[in-house]
Amino acid sequence: MSSQGQFGFAEMREWEHAAIEDVKVAEVVFNLPLERPYTYSIPEPLRDLIKPGQRVKAPLGRSNRIVVGYCVAIRPGESGQKRLKPIEELLDSEPLLNGQMLELTRWIGERYLCGWGQVLDSVIPAGVRKKSGTREVQNFILVPGTEEKLTSARLSRQQKMVIEVLQKSTGPVTATDLCERAGCSPGPLKSLQERGLIKAMRIRSEISGDDLLPVQQQADLKLNVQQQQALDRILQPIRASEHETLLLHGVTGSGKTEVYIRAIREVVSYGRQAIVLVPEISLTPQTIRRFRSRFSTVAVLHSHMTDAERHWQWQQISSGEIQVVVGARSAVFAPTPNLGLIVIDEEHEPSFKQDSTPRYHAREVARKRCLDERVPLILGSATPTLESWIRATRKLDVLVSMPSRVEDRPLPPVVVVDTRSDPRISKGSAIGRALYGAIDRALKDKGQVILFLNLRGYSPTVWCRSCGAGIKCPNCDITLTWHRDRQCVVCHSCDYEITPPKACPTCQSPAVRYLGTGTQKLDEEVQNTFPNATVIRMDSDSMQKPGSHDEALEKFRKGEVQILLGTQMIAKGLDFPNVTLVGVIDADTMLRQPDLRAAERTFQLIAQVAGRTGRGERGGRVLVQTTSPNDPAVKFASKHDFIGFAQHELAERYDTQAPPFSSVARVIFRGPDEMRTRQTAQAVADRLRSARRDATEVVRVLGAAPAPITRLRGLWRFHLQIAAKTPELVKELWQSAEQSLSLPDDVEFAIDVDPINAR
Ligand SMILES: [Zn+2]
Ligand SMILES: [Zn+2]
Repeated sequence: MSSQGQFGFAEMREWEHAAIEDVKVAEVVFNLPLERPYTYSIPEPLRDLIKPGQRVKAPLGRSNRIVVGYCVAIRPGESGQKRLKPIEELLDSEPLLNGQMLELTRWIGERYLCGWGQVLDSVIPAGVRKKSGTREVQNFILVPGTEEKLTSARLSRQQKMVIEVLQKSTGPVTATDLCERAGCSPGPLKSLQERGLIKAMRIRSEISGDDLLPVQQQADLKLNVQQQQALDRILQPIRASEHETLLLHGVTGSGKTEVYIRAIREVVSYGRQAIVLVPEISLTPQTIRRFRSRFSTVAVLHSHMTDAERHWQWQQISSGEIQVVVGARSAVFAPTPNLGLIVIDEEHEPSFKQDSTPRYHAREVARKRCLDERVPLILGSATPTLESWIRATRKLDVLVSMPSRVEDRPLPPVVVVDTRSDPRISKGSAIGRALYGAIDRALKDKGQVILFLNLRGYSPTVWCRSCGAGIKCPNCDITLTWHRDRQCVVCHSCDYEITPPKACPTCQSPAVRYLGTGTQKLDEEVQNTFPNATVIRMDSDSMQKPGSHDEALEKFRKGEVQILLGTQMIAKGLDFPNVTLVGVIDADTMLRQPDLRAAERTFQLIAQVAGRTGRGERGGRVLVQTTSPNDPAVKFASKHDFIGFAQHELAERYDTQAPPFSSVARVIFRGPDEMRTRQTAQAVADRLRSARRDATEVVRVLGAAPAPITRLRGLWRFHLQIAAKTPELVKELWQSAEQSLSLPDDVEFAIDVDPINAR
């Protein structure tokens, strides 16, 4: 990093002793869990150059270790202030983010109880921080017509690999990626280029090669009355340049995207930019094409981009040349110079919450950003989170409803099948009698079928019949999953993998059995039961190759595949008119999770999966297999009754004062020693309890207790929770105790504000 520094000041140590009266000082934050900035003096030559938002190098701590940090403010020094250490070096010639974004990142640190510097380090793409300058990225594609030449060309093994990678990819590939994927040095690239088989293009690569082709612009579709009314309501704050958060509650298939597009069109007509956040899994070429066919400049931000690509996009966006930014969670930080609107589609998706520091929720960050920049925020979902729903019903946000599907197509009938006495299931089959009949009929009628199962692998439980113990990962408190194709048992948390044990590790009995059905076993069962149908399985094991996801969906779209089965990957966004049957293999897998939101997630999943059918003229139906047919989440979902479910679930949460009726911070302690980790967690819990100003129930401290997954990746896990009416009360208590905490060296903690993951 030092070689990239533009201004070296190691030789200017005298500044340390300069008077600082009438002189400005710099406030600097580092990638540390500390909220407050450090103050430094600014050496004379930097005084006119340094601005908030730039990175600096500065000495930190007693050892005066030189560390990279972010200048967050320049302010007048106070007279009489003790001598300050000077900034060593200024790393950027221009700020990496503007004042508004600096404020937003400060707010995130405060809201999610982490360091401002930690937030900045996470928000600013590595490629931007590395300052690869404006250098463009070299990308490679196959020269058209190469395919024929290849048959006669003599190629080295590595050259063949390069060609193979390019053949499989749907667009240009950067030199770095190409070398990595082909496992070679840049040498073979150069020789292939000289032979005219591949060529370099000085452009960026993207999620697909579509970027290179001008996308034909399509005219706006005609909105129906319901869509028009929703749009009219959304346009009010846009036209008045006001902030409002609007919850667009529209059933699956009600045409929400078209409403977003028209709202964005308005924003773009004012020369402003819009940001559209979608779950990572929905960031498919299909989604992107939809936006690219309606707007001339669309940038896409997703997690598979290289640093250089991300940097390129970041620059394009901040130049104001981009009309619409489409991306996953972190796109909420897109540096649009003149933001006009943020849309969060599928706002209920848990992936909008980051599960590493800073543990922010993109919805709350968007809310804050839109408020500061005085622009509207649209949250769209068929199954909103109860957090968003309660705000809308209390009129803190605006509720905009779209209760019908386009063209008045009915929502599909959902049949709940009790599998407790099913003759097929009791014999070990995953497909019960009713579902078997329904699949058979759908196939005979030339319809297509989607089967949803939230467990991957072959058998999700490895179990000892003699002693009844589940066989667990040695590093985690999780039973291993049998992956028959690879002939090994795998831990889905840490990827620990061994050949299946011949004997039970607890009692040495050889009676080790595999229980339950994962997607691999279901795949096998479906193929055996319906030998004339073509089946495709979509889960993270079968979809590892880049592009395989789109390839599979394309086959399904074309009708080459009759049955699509898979995990969450197939639960959302897919819109295939010929799908006449959706089967949920086991709704219990979600219901049984030890999680406050288990019912909410079950409702959402059934509703979302059900939304994949009945989208064409042929209609469709849904079968949900469960052993809890009377569970309220299942019952309400089968009636497509979100409001009924929300009322029921909110009443339950109210009784226990659970979120959204309270704010929670979860503190997770991790360490290699069980006793020390437990004691530390307990000591912190006691410390928090005694720090409460009064012992009333205003702020509750729950725990410490073992976390639901007590061991993960070799570390013991204990947690405690602080709960109160408002996040401010939670924060106040945490901060009052935080300073006096002393933790053993081998116990670390992480704090998660508004956790949505209970593990
Ligand atoms: Zn045993
Ligand atoms: Zn493990």
